[in-house]
Amino acid sequence: MTVIAIDQDLCTGCQECVKVCPNLAIEGVPHKPQTLVEEKCVMCGQCVQKCKSYVSVAEHGFGAYEKVRKARGLPPTVTEPLFAAYNVCHLDEVLKALDDPKVETWVQSAPAVRVGIAEDFGAPLGTLAAGKLAAALRRIGFNKVYDVNYAADVTIMEEGSELIDRVTNKGLLPMFTSCCPAWVKYMELNYPELRHHLSTTKSPQQIQGALVKTYGAKNQKTDPKKIYSVSIMPCTCKQFESSRPEMADSGHRDVDVVITTRELAYLIKLKGIDFLNLPEEKFDLPMGDYTGAAEIFGVTGGVMEAALRTGYELITGKPIPSVDITAVRGPEGYREADIQVGDLTLKVGIVTGLKNVKPVLEALKAGKLDRHFVEVMTCPEGCVTGGGQPKLIVDKDFESAYKSRTDATYVHDKELPIRKSHENPSVKKLYETFLKKPLGEESHKLLHTTYCGDPKHGHGH
Ligand code: SF4
Ligand code: SF4
Repeated sequence: MTVIAIDQDLCTGCQECVKVCPNLAIEGVPHKPQTLVEEKCVMCGQCVQKCKSYVSVAEHGFGAYEKVRKARGLPPTVTEPLFAAYNVCHLDEVLKALDDPKVETWVQSAPAVRVGIAEDFGAPLGTLAAGKLAAALRRIGFNKVYDVNYAADVTIMEEGSELIDRVTNKGLLPMFTSCCPAWVKYMELNYPELRHHLSTTKSPQQIQGALVKTYGAKNQKTDPKKIYSVSIMPCTCKQFESSRPEMADSGHRDVDVVITTRELAYLIKLKGIDFLNLPEEKFDLPMGDYTGAAEIFGVTGGVMEAALRTGYELITGKPIPSVDITAVRGPEGYREADIQVGDLTLKVGIVTGLKNVKPVLEALKAGKLDRHFVEVMTCPEGCVTGGGQPKLIVDKDFESAYKSRTDATYVHDKELPIRKSHENPSVKKLYETFLKKPLGEESHKLLHTTYCGDPKHGHGH
């Protein structure tokens, strides 16, 4: 399955992509087209973000542009430059489902999408557009407008409980987060012997997908076979994650198709929707109900902070002294923090930018990593800087876009009435009426997974 490709006709060999690739998956000599080695690619899309060689109508003429646009399956309303490094687009499948009256299209979007999407309509970098995003998805014609943030809250219930279980029952530590599929792929390819350190909890995207076709279908009295589940992601690797064979524990694919934030912007433009003038609307209940803890999944340190907000209260039975755990926030790199949770000093680590994970894993192999829980995100500052986010053309915009999207994420966290996952009323109801308890039988069946120990399976697993 090809997820990321380099167009040999467009690549000028500037090697901007080579500099950012975290797994040395791009080979070639300067000033000649580069080759992407699929077996090594973890599909993060950072090369897509940095690529500077393109075809445009203004410089190359309509015919040359049209040929590339059509070959990539992009709608005729797309007019912006098309770059040599690109991700394979699945928008045609979404359009087909939207046009099929027999199909129920249920959509879910990730936390980072709402702080990126407005940029593609000319709004300032990092504009928060959660309400307009919900409104746009409804006007496109999706039958249900749900939110991955709901499942991020469920992820915390499962992953937080898993951590508590590993800590109290002498399980394998440190536990690593597993919500970034490019990181999971990197672990499977390069350190398969360490894979049991990954949390077995599925990512929010896959949890949402599994719940949509079971709990959601039951609630709405809909045949799960009729539901076509669409994910909107800031991430180019999520299509790969959704197509992993094991991601179908309910008997149906958890997620049927994934498109990126950029491709959602194409879709909104194709439908003639005036995004910036849309009213603010809410996501549908119950699977669009979310807390501030879920929203910060989009930034580095966010999964850790969300887990601590809940873990602290589950372990101590007392309210956490400060909801803002700034010790785990920070820039690209690796950082550690020791957090007092009752009698336990919880030692955590946060890696962002996949290139920074190797020394951490080498320390683990050498028995020198003294941590309980480590969060890893592939992209420079987490998913807000993901490979599927709006493309930044000017180098100087990267830093300000990263900062603005991160700031907007924390603003949204602060403005939400509930900021801890275990207090989400719709998640409480999910456990009361369906899952019964975190790590219970139904959770194990639907919301947990295993990892591939044979790196030879590589890309296709
Ligand atoms: S998608 Fe990521 S891993 Fe794959 S070639 Fe591009 S930068 Fe490298
Ligand atoms: S950090 Fe986020 S956007 Fe980047 S590869 Fe991981 S999940 Fe995808």
